[in-house]
Amino acid sequence: MTIESLQDYAQYFIPTIPRTPTNRYASIILLRETKSYAIFTTEGGEQQDVEDTPAGIVHAGEKVSRLVVFKRKQVAPERRTGKALLRQYGIFPYAIKDGKVSYGEEATRMESFYDDCYLTEKLCTHCPDCLIYGYAAVEGEGARKARLMTDTCFSVRPYEIIQKQVKFNVINEAEHTSGTITEYDYTTPGVFLPSVETSVDLTADEFVYVLGNLLRTSRYGKEGTRQGFVRNHVLAVAFSDVELFANLEFTQALYDAFRDDSEIDMTSGDLNLADFQKHVDSVLEKLTGNLPGRFEMVGGEKLDAILQDIRALNQDETRLKDFLRGLNDQSASFAV
Ligand SMILES: [Zn+2]
Repeated sequence: MTIESLQDYAQYFIPTIPRTPTNRYASIILLRETKSYAIFTTEGGEQQDVEDTPAGIVHAGEKVSRLVVFKRKQVAPERRTGKALLRQYGIFPYAIKDGKVSYGEEATRMESFYDDCYLTEKLCTHCPDCLIYGYAAVEGEGARKARLMTDTCFSVRPYEIIQKQVKFNVINEAEHTSGTITEYDYTTPGVFLPSVETSVDLTADEFVYVLGNLLRTSRYGKEGTRQGFVRNHVLAVAFSDVELFANLEFTQALYDAFRDDSEIDMTSGDLNLADFQKHVDSVLEKLTGNLPGRFEMVGGEKLDAILQDIRALNQDETRLKDFLRGLNDQSASFAV
């Protein structure tokens, strides 16, 4: 185990990559906060995705139209972050022969080697990314189910007050004329999206990789625009043998708490991180109070220790390289 502060929770991870499910869940409970203008549309869409949902769990009679961020929009950027890291630290090219993994020059001299891994045409099917996040059918390799699950997440406040329509006049530089006016539908900075990423049957090191990707990733939203700075705030990690709650329930429970707090006004001004921190413990307690399974929540200083250890690993080039190699050795030698 690479991260010492996870030692206390060793029983909640699986020692080696499993062939069959055992439902050991480790959930990362977080808030995604926009720190710039962002665009959350589905492919080719002009307008951001919005859904009418019951406002709260208690306040279920009212409706709120909320910004929606689909699963792919959350996980794909984190996968790309992880994959770029694997490339930077020389995981590619690698080759496998008789369960032994070789790298670099040596790998390229082998009969067949993997020189990269990317969506959608060239998934290698053996690297940590492929084994953790899964892939759809690849010729000759079948498909692999993800061991990381997440759902669509929803804004707490109504879409009308967290959105801004901006018009741009595209200037033609050569002819000094103004061209088409393009209108974009933006999410404003300071919007919070409560979310849970649930891993199932990961080794402790695979979990460290997933959490590292989440901490490193800062750009979400419309691809190709390179805008949409998002800060991920990890609130807690929970270990269980059942799933905890849906992202929408998390958003609704926070909405209920804010509605009943006279110091918080959701309709004017901005919500801030402190508002969430004030209520998150009691909200999580309510949401997990009646689970039909075992459950342990890690927050406060214990969570800080885990996050600090993961940051320290990511700051140390030599350790990180060894860690990623070890991780890839495990996944590549796992006979599919
Ligand atoms: Zn791969």
